[in-house]
Formats: sequence, structure tokens, C-alpha cells
Amino acid sequence: MGIEFADVTKRYPDGTVAVDGLSMTIEDGTITVFVGPSGCGKTTSLRMINRMVEPTSGRVLLDGKDVRDSDPAVLRRGIGYVIQHAGLFPHRTVLDNVATVPLLSGWGKRKARDRAAELMEIVGLPAELGKRYPAQLSGGQRQRVGVARALAADSPVLLMDEPFSAVDPIVREGLQDELLRLQSQLGKTIVFVTHDIDEAVRLGDRVAVMRVGGKLAQYGTPSDVLRS
Ligand code: ADP
Ligand code: ADP
Repeated sequence: MGIEFADVTKRYPDGTVAVDGLSMTIEDGTITVFVGPSGCGKTTSLRMINRMVEPTSGRVLLDGKDVRDSDPAVLRRGIGYVIQHAGLFPHRTVLDNVATVPLLSGWGKRKARDRAAELMEIVGLPAELGKRYPAQLSGGQRQRVGVARALAADSPVLLMDEPFSAVDPIVREGLQDELLRLQSQLGKTIVFVTHDIDEAVRLGDRVAVMRVGGKLAQYGTPSDVLRS
């Protein structure tokens, strides 16, 4: 599913311009990485896709349709979303965390848990971890749970906001490889946010470089971006 930003600006109520006139097209089935220093508008851009943030002006189109025409709750349930500290529910088991979206979508408990078990396998988590609580996992395992939970939305689009930055470099590389493997298997449109240019170049089919003030400085293949 392609995504388009058409002259999108976001000004927060306090006057901060987080994103300034962003226009770009994200191709279906690609990993597109927003990269740039802290505060340059990466998260804001990502969150305008699932309406966690509304643009001040301009339009965001998902599969050619203005996201404003979709109910935000329905839109969010249908778009996988992964954040830095996985954002897991601490009082639910790992399995039930992964089953969250199917349960919200009205699946029965048994079916939702079966699906969750499948997803755990897809992201390389041993089944026996399903009974644990998030605090009983390593950082890398928690991020895998976050990815599995997001995949449960079974959506063509996955939004990932610095999902691997809180884990150590070796675990991070493993997670990056896993994401690339998942991507070649599942062919999702992935929008990924990071402040780490190496991660951007490693993962991205396309890299969007933003600078403070919320302007898109560059958008191209990793080699285009590295060349300049
Ligand atoms: P990044 O993800 O690149 O770190 P953000 O999109 O989080 O950047 O933030 C872009 C700018 O908008 C920053 O200056 C940030 O302080 C500001 N900002 C983010 N969220 C809010 C908010 N809710 N209210 C006011 N300013 C915000
Ligand atoms: P908040 O973003 O303020 O934490 P939400 O109610 O939007 O609150 O989300 C609660 C948690 O569920 C968040 O930590 C978020 O990571 C996760 N979440 C929200 N939407 C989705 C989704 N579509 N897929 C997976 N996880 C989601």
C-alpha cells in the first residue's frame, strides 16, 4: 500500500513547526526510513500516517485515500505500530500482548491466541515465552514481541519508531536482519524512523533525510544519500 504526503505541515499549538511542507511518495512494498537529528519531525511525520497526529495543512494519502476519511481508531487497528520500548502492556502475558489487536477486532480468545502463537514463531520467539510477562524478557525479546504485536494487525503497512534503539548493538543487528527477512517474506510497506544513519542505510530501500525545522533535505536510495 503506497503512502503520499502532499505538502504536509504540522504546527503544534505552541507554535513549533515540526514538519514543514513535506511532499513525498512512499512506494508500496518498500522500507522507507526517515532519518535525521532529534526534533526534526520524524515521529510527527510517522504519526500523521495513522492519525495519531493531524496535519495543520496538506494531505496524507494511504493507498490513494485521504486518511482523514478513515475513522482514527479503525485506521490504527489496521496499521501495525512499533515504538522504542515496545509499549507492551505490563500486566498481560506476552501471548496476550501479541493477541491484543485480534482481540480488539472481535476474534475469540482461542483464535486470537493461536494467531499470536504463530506470530511469535514468525518473529523468532520461543513459544514458552508466551506465558511470561514483559518484565521477564530481555530488551531484544521485548522488541520482538512489539513487532509480533504490530504484525497482528495483518496490515500492509507497518510503522516503526526507533524500534531497536534501546537494545545493544549486537542484538540490534540481529533484529535488523530479522526485519529484512520479514520484509522479503511479507512484502509490507514499512516506514521506519531512526536517528542512526547506518541503520537507515542498512534497512532502507529509500532514505528520507530530514533536518531540524521539519524540512525534507533529501530523499533517495541509500547510495544517493551517502554520495552527498
Ligand atoms: P523527531 O521524531 O525527529 O525527534 P518529533 O516529530 O518528535 O521529532 O518533534 C519535532 C518537533 O516538534 C520538536 O521540536 C518537538 O519538540 C516538537 N513536538 C513534538 N511533539 C510536540 C507536541 N505534542 N507539542 C509541541 N511540540 C511538539
Ligand atoms: P499511547 O500511544 O498514548 O501509548 P495508545 O492507546 O495509542 O496509547 O496505544 C497503547 C499502546 O498500544 C501503545 O504503546 C502502542 O504502542 C500500542 N499500539 C497502538 N496501536 C497499535 C497498533 N495498531 N498495533 C500495535 N500496537 C499498537
